[in-house]
Amino acid sequence: MAGFGKSPWILHYDASSCNGCDIETLACLTPLFDVERLGVVNTGNPKHADIFLVTGAVNEQSKSVIRNLYEQMPEPKAVVAVGACACTGGIFRQCYNISGGVDGVIPVDVYVPGCAARPEAIIDGVVKAVQVLEHKHRAMKSNANRDQAVYLPADPEDAPEILALQRIAYRLHEELYGGEENVPPLVQTLPELTGEFGQTRFVKAVVNGKLIGSARAHPNDHAAEVSRIMVHPYFQGRGIGRRLLGEIEQSLQHDVKLFETAVGGKSEENMAWLQRQGYQIVQIMPAAPADTRVHLRKERA
Ligand code: SF4
Repeated sequence: MAGFGKSPWILHYDASSCNGCDIETLACLTPLFDVERLGVVNTGNPKHADIFLVTGAVNEQSKSVIRNLYEQMPEPKAVVAVGACACTGGIFRQCYNISGGVDGVIPVDVYVPGCAARPEAIIDGVVKAVQVLEHKHRAMKSNANRDQAVYLPADPEDAPEILALQRIAYRLHEELYGGEENVPPLVQTLPELTGEFGQTRFVKAVVNGKLIGSARAHPNDHAAEVSRIMVHPYFQGRGIGRRLLGEIEQSLQHDVKLFETAVGGKSEENMAWLQRQGYQIVQIMPAAPADTRVHLRKERA
C-alpha cells in the first residue's frame, strides 16, 4: 500500500471558512507549489479520497455534511483540520451559529494552525496525514490478518458506532436501489436504532476496541427475525459475518426454532451468502419501488 505515500488523494471541504484557508489550499495546486507533481490529487469524490481536508469552523449546516463525507470515505482515512477555524472554531468560535472545530464532529488526525494556514504548512500537514494513513493501514492489516475479532452482546451505548458502521456497510446499496431513501439502513436515525434495543438482541464484532461488525435479531414467539448482518468493508471476506450470524442465532432462547430474514431482490450476493449459511428462500414479495423482497428461513439445527 505504498500508494498512499506516492499519491494521496484529497477531499477538500469548506465547512464555513472565510475563504482565506481555501485560497491557501488551492495555492498548493498552483504552479508555485504544484503538489500534483508529488502525486497529490484533489478529488471531488469522497469514495476515492484518502485524506479529508477541512477548512473553516463547523456550524449546524456543515455538521451533517462533514459526517456524511467522512462516512463515505473508505478506511483507512485521515482528517486534516486546516486553519485556526477548523482546529478550534478560531475567531468565530463564540458566534451563535458556530459549534467549534472539526474534532467536535469527526476524529481529526492532523491540525494545521494559522490564520490563514500557509501553503507550506498545509503541505506539511498532508505529509503528516500520509504517515498517519500508513500507520492506520499497517494496524488494520495486522488486525485483519490475525482476525482478533471479539464477539460480544451490544448495548445501547454501542448505537452510535453501529449506526456509523451501518452507513458504511450499506453505502453500496444506494446505487443498487436508486438512492439512499430506498435503503432503510441508510436513513435510520440514532433514536430509532437506540429504540430497537428494548426488543431486539444485538451482537457486535470488535477489533482493538473498534466495532467492525454487528448483527441483530428480533425474537417473536418461536421465530426470530435476523437482520443487518454487517461487517466493515475492510474486514469482509474473513468469516466475520458468518461468525456474527452464528453468535446472534446462539444468543436466542432455545424455544426459538426458526430464523427468518429478508433481503432486497437486487441484493443477489447477500442472498447467495445467506443460502450458503443454510437459509432457504420461502417467499418473494413485490416491494416498492420496482423491486422485490425475498424472504428466507432456516430451522434451528
Ligand atoms: S483560519 Fe482565518 S483564514 Fe482560515 S478560515 Fe478561519 S478566519 Fe479564514
